[in-house]
Amino acid sequence: MKIYNTLTKQKEEFVPLVPGKVSMYVCGPTVYNLIHIGNARPMIVFDTVRRYMEHRGYEVNYVSNFTDVDDKIIKKAMEEGVTAEEISQRYIQECKKDMEGMNVRPATTHPLATQEIDGMIEMISTLIEKDYAYVAQDGTVYFRTRKFKEYGKLSHKNLDDLRGGNRSLLVTGEDQKEDSLDFVLWKPKKDGEPYWESPWCNGRPGWHIECSVMAKKYLGDEIDIHAGGEDLIFPHHENEIAQSECCNGKIFARYWMHNGFLNIDNRKMSKSLGNFFTVREIGEKYDLQVLRFFMLSAHYRSPLNFSAELMEASKNGLDRIVNAVGNLKFIAENAAVEELSAEEAKELASLAEYEKKFDEAMDDDFNTADAVAAIFELVKYANTNVTENSTKAFADGVKDKIVELSDILGLVVEKQEEMLDKEIEALIEERQAARKAKNFARADEIRDLLLAKGIVLKDTREGVKWERA
Ligand code: AMP
Ligand code: ZN
Repeated sequence: MKIYNTLTKQKEEFVPLVPGKVSMYVCGPTVYNLIHIGNARPMIVFDTVRRYMEHRGYEVNYVSNFTDVDDKIIKKAMEEGVTAEEISQRYIQECKKDMEGMNVRPATTHPLATQEIDGMIEMISTLIEKDYAYVAQDGTVYFRTRKFKEYGKLSHKNLDDLRGGNRSLLVTGEDQKEDSLDFVLWKPKKDGEPYWESPWCNGRPGWHIECSVMAKKYLGDEIDIHAGGEDLIFPHHENEIAQSECCNGKIFARYWMHNGFLNIDNRKMSKSLGNFFTVREIGEKYDLQVLRFFMLSAHYRSPLNFSAELMEASKNGLDRIVNAVGNLKFIAENAAVEELSAEEAKELASLAEYEKKFDEAMDDDFNTADAVAAIFELVKYANTNVTENSTKAFADGVKDKIVELSDILGLVVEKQEEMLDKEIEALIEERQAARKAKNFARADEIRDLLLAKGIVLKDTREGVKWERA
């Protein structure tokens, strides 16, 4: 499996630190609003990387944080007259709903910055002890960037160029820094802001230290993959490397993966331009599976343009797979013969060819566009080769292959069958009869079975009522 590593600017063979295991950290969103479709791109892309790694037999420890202390959160809290915690908790819950809609699996751990302050104080203390950080007059702690000789290795920036570009900082009042390249690890609180006690001042952490600490705590000093959007390469990830490597004395992450940006109508997405969509807005118009399919139709490192036409095209593309699966299901249910014929057995074995293409595409730095193309080829095969004369086993076999490959990309292509009202009412009657006969085990079993299908029962004075949850 090859991964493009931002650090070396090359595709490299993936070799995990521990055979069979992958440790992966993905920078998560700052939670002060509903997530937008740009934030959705790393979520979908790296969830797909995780799923594919699992398909290849790796056990993946996937950590993704929520940044729940930040200027934007505090500003929003002040506007609404509530606490910062109320804002961040609200939008974490909303973000989780969107993730579920996009079939993005919850991380193994979703740490919150505000719950990891002790670890941050510890890492900053170590950096101060090692002389990589210093405390300014007002209690701000800065990282001594120039002391880390490898600074710039991820973004391939030259320290002196950076200094030139940053000279204005020196004029804008940041004169308590020893050097304009130094960045904040801890800063004093301002009035009305949330704060924590520390040896330096009552205040809060800088953004970069959060991720270094959470990655260390949940994954270790050295991790396999660190990922996020390409805007994070500099300064966020560069600073994370500096902090972690100076504190731990080890290489921080071995592979750095970055997704390209999502634009709207070929322009940068921004609130001020008014070309800005939340995932929730897209969800009002489309099944969020369509958004997932859209994201995977391009290579994750390419810029991706969002437009109404492309969403329609994605809807049609996904529908083609969903319809093929529905059709195969229909054929299987109505087949005259169950057992596979000898000829069909050979055909089924030949489907491995499509899976090979799929795997080859994904092995090549997660080329999801080609992987989707392999699924389309399989759909085409199904549409021409599975007919009403096919056996049930054959139709099921082809269907299962399409569903399996789609599932690796996190695409749900098999429609959940809705229970008919008639079936539900028959089961409710059976449950009533079971209760009368004091067969409570069966009665509970039926209630659970209905619940699993999203049917909730309510006992009322007029009898049992039901509704779809
Ligand atoms: P933020 O909440 O701004 O820290 O962003 C959370 C994640 O979304 C980061 O990995 C960003 O790089 C990513 N991101 C933000 N905007 C976009 C965009 N327009 N396209 C792709 N990724 C984005
Ligand atoms: Zn981060």
